[in-house]
This record gives sequence, C-alpha cells and structure tokens, in this order.
Amino acid sequence: MTMDLSNLEIITESDLAEAVGEGFTEIQVSEHVLLTLSACEYVHNHSIILSRRDAGARADFALRAEIIQAGRKLWERHYVDGSGGNISARLSNQRVICTPSFCCKGDLTMSDFAVVDMDGIQTEGEKPRSSEILLHLAVYQAVPQAHAVIHCHPPHALAYALTGTLPQGGMVPEHEVFIGDVALAPYETPGTPEFARSVLPYVHGRNMILLQNHGIVCWADTVTHAEWMVEVFDTYCRTLILAARLDADLVPIPEPKIAELRHLRNKLGLPPV
Ligand SMILES: [Zn+2]
Repeated sequence: MTMDLSNLEIITESDLAEAVGEGFTEIQVSEHVLLTLSACEYVHNHSIILSRRDAGARADFALRAEIIQAGRKLWERHYVDGSGGNISARLSNQRVICTPSFCCKGDLTMSDFAVVDMDGIQTEGEKPRSSEILLHLAVYQAVPQAHAVIHCHPPHALAYALTGTLPQGGMVPEHEVFIGDVALAPYETPGTPEFARSVLPYVHGRNMILLQNHGIVCWADTVTHAEWMVEVFDTYCRTLILAARLDADLVPIPEPKIAELRHLRNKLGLPPV
C-alpha cells in the first residue's frame, strides 16, 4: 500500500511511523522533499520504499539517504572534520551524485547534493560539487566495479600517511578480507587534476589507497560498504599503532590461513590480492 505524502515539504520520523502504523510500506513524496536524519534512518531500518516520479528519481533518492547516513557515520567516528571528506555514487555510467563542497558530512540534507557528468561538469544541484570530484571520477573511469567512492581523513590511517609507510599486512582477518593490499600514492595538491591522476597507477586490484600527507580514498559496490572499508582500515591502523607500544613482537596470521582469507575475499567479489 502506498501513502501519498507528496504535499509535505519536510518528512519526519513521526510522519513515517504513522504511515507504517497504518500498514503503508511505500510512501509517495514530492520531488524536493527534505527528510530529517531520523527519518532517513527510519526509512533504512524499516525498508520503506520512497517513490517519486520515476525509477531514476527513486534511485537518486535512495542514494541521497544512504550518503547522508554514511556521512554522519564518518563524522561521528572522527574520519572527517570541518567540511573535509567527500562521498559520491554512480547514478548511471554517465552521471555521478556527490556531496557539495564546504559542507560538514555530519549535517547533509537531501537537497545538498550535486550531480555531475563524467567530465565533472555539474548538471544538477544548487550547491557546488565537491572540490575532489575529479578524484572520484578518476576512480569510476578506471574501475567499472566501483559504484561508490569515499575520500576522507581518518586519523590513524593519516598517521601512517604522514610517515609515508603502509601498515603491515597479515595481522587481522577483517583487514585481509575487506581491505587486502593497500597502496601509497604520492602527495599532490588536493582538488587538482594532478591529484586525481596520482591514484591511477594504484587502483587496479585494490579498493583502498593511502594518500601521502592527506588521507585515504576507497571504493566499493555501495556507499554503505565503502564506509565500512573506512572503518575497517582506520581500526586496523589504530590497532597496529597500539600494538607497537607493547614490548612484544607482532605475530602474523600463518600464511596458509592468509590464503583461506584471500579465498573468502574472492568469494565476496572483492578485488583479488
Ligand atoms: Zn582530503
């Protein structure tokens, strides 16, 4: 059953709870509706279908909600500060939706987003596109499997990036399965075409790149999964930094067991190491 809430400019959690309480599972909304953050969470947690005029609009709408959630998680976990970091997702092979420039990723709203073509030309949205969209587009053009890209500055990963070293691999199963091989890209000025090109030698066979003196960029099949990659990688870096303070040698996972983890990684469809 579909409830028509297209007369509302803002939809709150209580609007949705009321509709669900009456047995509605699909909500018709207006094209420019704003959802509160708690409403976005409610949509996600209750598998509510939000419908607009066409399927493309629905996909656009769902992606906005997913990016808002990911942005808030990045901000809550201190992976972005100020207006730092950016998130994008493919709408099609020719269109990418992205966060705007100069906007806190913990405060995104449904109307904040920009849509660009594969040359970075903005075609939709009132706010200017992310200054790092060229980096995202470089990944999309080189990695067809990438459907979402996140660039951010998680502090423990950045600590490694400041030293120009990569965290030692082979220590924690989750890192081996979800992150695998990580490359270190040389420093380039953020927002420039040179910066976007700096990651290209490292994108194949990976989903995570450490950016010298800057942060990370990673990609996945969904925005949610890309955000998970950030969490797994920064936690791994933090754990290694903690372990380095202990007066003991690190004990790696035995090589035959690493092979089992790589097999699991391949089963999940992640880039083979
Ligand atoms: Zn950055």
